[in-house]
Amino acid sequence: MGCLFCNILEKKVPATVVYEDEHALAFRDIRPVAPTHVLVIPKKHVAAVHDLDDAHAEAVGRVLVAARRVADQEGLTKDGYRLVINDGDAAGQTVHHIHVHVLGGRSLTWPPG
Ligand code: AMP
Ligand code: ZN
Repeated sequence: MGCLFCNILEKKVPATVVYEDEHALAFRDIRPVAPTHVLVIPKKHVAAVHDLDDAHAEAVGRVLVAARRVADQEGLTKDGYRLVINDGDAAGQTVHHIHVHVLGGRSLTWPPG
């Protein structure tokens, strides 16, 4: 079994990759909730925000920079977009490898559900 997103990193599970660098991978969400819905993950496994420590600071920063690049690449920068990280059950986290959702291409309501 193992971690689904680690399996995507290891190419054991297919994904539509839209961006990759030394620290992060970005691929299209399999069940998009917006015209653009991309997930950005760190290449080093960390399960959730509640597990973050000082040692993860660079990896998380790199994920945000990658998310910004994905947004540019997807043409979202002019109109705006949303980055989401769900943490734990109440937020609906279903995959326990930290990931930033990049959502855009439509108007996004606030507050989220
Ligand atoms: P979260 O609910 O924040 O944990 O988000 C997990 C996301 O992963 C959901 O939006 C799913 O649609 C998405 N997802 C699950 N399996 C895959 C997959 N094999 N490839 C791409 N996205 C996936
Ligand atoms: Zn993982």
